[in-house]
Amino acid sequence: MNILHISAECFPIAKIGGLADVVGALPKYQKKLGTTSNVVMPYYDNKFTESNSFEKIYENYIALGHEYFHFKVLKLTSNQLGFDLFCIDVPDLLFKDYVYSNDDTARFLAFQIATLDWLLTFEEKPDIIHTHDHHTGLIPFMMSHSFKYETLKDIPTVLTIHNAQYQGWFSHEKTHLIPPFNFEKVGLLDWDSNINSLAAAIKCAWKVTTVSPSYMEELKLQANGLENLLNHESAKCIGILNGIDWTVWNTETDEKLIKNYTTSNVISGKTANKKWLCKEFKLDIKKPLFVFIGRLVGEKGADLFPKIFKEALAENTISILLLGSGHKETEEALTAIPKENFNTFIGYNEKLAHIIYAGADFLLMPSRVEPCGLNQMYSLRYGTVPVVNAIGGLKDTVIDIDKEDGFGIVHNGVTVEKVTKAITRATEYYSDEKAFNKNLKNIMKIDHSWNNSAQEYVNLYKSLKN
Ligand code: ADP
Repeated sequence: MNILHISAECFPIAKIGGLADVVGALPKYQKKLGTTSNVVMPYYDNKFTESNSFEKIYENYIALGHEYFHFKVLKLTSNQLGFDLFCIDVPDLLFKDYVYSNDDTARFLAFQIATLDWLLTFEEKPDIIHTHDHHTGLIPFMMSHSFKYETLKDIPTVLTIHNAQYQGWFSHEKTHLIPPFNFEKVGLLDWDSNINSLAAAIKCAWKVTTVSPSYMEELKLQANGLENLLNHESAKCIGILNGIDWTVWNTETDEKLIKNYTTSNVISGKTANKKWLCKEFKLDIKKPLFVFIGRLVGEKGADLFPKIFKEALAENTISILLLGSGHKETEEALTAIPKENFNTFIGYNEKLAHIIYAGADFLLMPSRVEPCGLNQMYSLRYGTVPVVNAIGGLKDTVIDIDKEDGFGIVHNGVTVEKVTKAITRATEYYSDEKAFNKNLKNIMKIDHSWNNSAQEYVNLYKSLKN
């Protein structure tokens, strides 16, 4: 079976969030199951493309409305990723030093059209086209209804929703940018009088998955306007929990860490990483270290962080360290908090993130929306106790310590009071050294690798080929 993933992000080439981690790992694990699984993504102007070599395997022009754009398909020459990586280079539109901007309609349409134009030239077509999020959401529609892609219409398409908040809306005035299609089908593109790329994909893909079972159920109640559509299409929808890449996230081999460790020397290993963090960020190593890593946006509860942190620091003997960036107001409010038992790194830093997962005692995730969440799985793997709101994938992966087989701190709802209370509970748990240390070894052994979920995807593909 030959699967082609089409995505705007893929780790380590371009990563904004969890989408990249998933697309960079899932194909590797699908290969282990005997399938051929490769990735197509845009060619961006970044560190990775600058420092790796690519060979041109195809070039042509695409029509975007009345304009023509030159594009190339570039294949990564090394096999460092464990799968083939193809990048679509549309120099005038995609080749930028950013992944997303405020107006990406033409950019990602060009990406999708160029990908399909190139697919037309394949002698042997893929068995499955797997699209991810709204940036590739018009592919199932174009494959079914654009005259030009008639020969692709029998290839099953799968859409995975990593985040339904962003939907790729644009005005019907831009419909002419989509390659000519049977106009009776224009309704499939529409949602609430706009073209909605995610809605079109939900309507046209053969199967729709979300990145956790709970997120699928939550979207049927609240999906930024698409809840009725998801209820209507529920027969073809399924939630499959994301996994994590155990080759990248491995405490024994992770080259980014200050000290590597396993379950047998977890305490000394974590202490060495914590020591480095405390020195770097002027924190007291004796206090339990709470951390946050991620985008500073409302979905993550970030607007409440300044208040939560001030209150939690006043009520408990703890330290807090935050790594992230996002809304400027939140960044400024966080930067203004006195640097006493508290520090921040405003920005993106992959190496620091790894050290933080290893050196922290608790990872905070007071998300209001969390489709799957990878951070809690990385933290478990690195022996850091997650403190999470019971939502989406967090609900599916963290059990509260007061429940049978529990290992994390779970709160219900995101308010300053509820999160602060959860931090206090965590601090109390930390003071029971024996129980706390035993738990670290246990959480490191929880298997959230892609093995199980990759198989679930392959089963799903097979059901479409029968
Ligand atoms: P989302 O995709 O909603 O941002 P996920 O939990 O699914 O959230 O994935 C976030 C990924 O991005 C994780 O790998 C996390 O470690 C990483 N990440 C987020 N912000 C930063 C940052 N500022 N520096 C380094 N890594 C980050």
